[in-house]
Amino acid sequence: MTEPPAPRRPFSVPRDLLDRYNQAGPRYTSYPTVPEWSAGFGPEDTFAALDANREQRAGVPLSLYVHIPFCSKLCYYCGCNIHLARDHALVDRYLAAVDWEAGRIAEHVGDQRPVVQLHWGGGTPTHLDPDQIRRLFASLVGRFGLARDAEVSIEVHPAVTTPAQLETLAELGFNRISMGVQDFDPGVQRAIHRIQPFEMTRDLVDLARRLGFVSVNLDLMYGLPHQSPERFAATLEKTMAIRPDRIALFNYAHLPSIYPHQRALKELPGPELKLALLETAVDTFLAHGYRYIGFDHFALPDNELVRALEERTLRRNFMGYTTCADSDLLAFGMSAISELAGAYFQNQRKLFDYLADVERGRLPVVRGMNLSRDDQLRRDVIFALACLGSVDKTRISRLHGVSFDATFAAELAALEPMAADGLVALFDDRIEIQPRGQLLVRNVCMVFDSYLRATPGRTFSRTI
Ligand code: SF4
Repeated sequence: MTEPPAPRRPFSVPRDLLDRYNQAGPRYTSYPTVPEWSAGFGPEDTFAALDANREQRAGVPLSLYVHIPFCSKLCYYCGCNIHLARDHALVDRYLAAVDWEAGRIAEHVGDQRPVVQLHWGGGTPTHLDPDQIRRLFASLVGRFGLARDAEVSIEVHPAVTTPAQLETLAELGFNRISMGVQDFDPGVQRAIHRIQPFEMTRDLVDLARRLGFVSVNLDLMYGLPHQSPERFAATLEKTMAIRPDRIALFNYAHLPSIYPHQRALKELPGPELKLALLETAVDTFLAHGYRYIGFDHFALPDNELVRALEERTLRRNFMGYTTCADSDLLAFGMSAISELAGAYFQNQRKLFDYLADVERGRLPVVRGMNLSRDDQLRRDVIFALACLGSVDKTRISRLHGVSFDATFAAELAALEPMAADGLVALFDDRIEIQPRGQLLVRNVCMVFDSYLRATPGRTFSRTI
């Protein structure tokens, strides 16, 4: 009797496709991507965009983000906008600046816009002590009303987070928490300059759950020094023991020309090894009942991300995947990025530039973009691919008043080789990402990105 064939990995990139598709490309947390925005977009453009938004989007919910850039130690893989400091007075000065900024923005936002999502990211938000946490929370919630069932989330670093901070957060109504891990292997942790024993993370997750946090996310990373499928399997096993509700599995983006400290990371895994790490992780998550959400995210079946995926309301923004399909995102603090239906804008990316602007009474916006109709059309297509794994041509045509096939004739032709490689399936009424295209969805999105063709040579990380 012949053996039944071994089950195929649902998400896998055949090795012969690796060279062809392992290109540099955006992660599409926005479209158009940040390098395309204009440095000429400043405070007046921002107020105009907010005023137009107030007119057009009355009653539409809001998401709020605040960036807390402080970290006490530098992780060598870090690609975030941070400021290394242990200075309590500087944090107070920063919180005063965020308070002022939130006040200026609030003047241009209409009433009756419930905040359905509030997220604190960093940096290290738990660099703030409990008093500072309370002050920042009051500053935001006092100006923008929080919906009763809002998702209130925070990123914490287990090595600097105390029970008193978690208790304060729970008391204020934070109900979702995200922790960076990257890898539990001590050798990898030494190499990346982030010592965080497994027990430290596990105990903090246990405490968060006891305090009522309903969703815990852990961040892992592949592509770091000393990682091998065997060693990474041990990290994955420990992660499964914690059983986070969500997992973000990031592909380490090595961009030392932008982040010089990344030069400290030597002997990085090549594409074949990275792919093996990724596949080991994906196999483990699926075997433990996680659902693949898209790009680098996984979640347990009862998590709201899975529900949003099934209900086709999943969206992508600068925080990653979000269940808040139709909301405008207002973001505060150094480097923070806001996203309105028709515009993006970003604040100063360095702490003292941000403070200098605010302290002389200038809104600290330094770049942004008003989206053209073509930008909005392409954004919908790219986000449908990235969030839902398919594009409904009829819906896009109706929504934007275009003929999909005529508008995207060149793009559809460019997808033919990808269809031949089994990454996508092209139907009369839709485009569908296929299982072997799941991990290469960025490549498919890039076909619809008109700026990549117009301005080649931008610096992006590789897709694998
Ligand atoms: S804690 Fe996070 S933000 Fe801070 S340096 Fe490490 S990776 Fe970067």
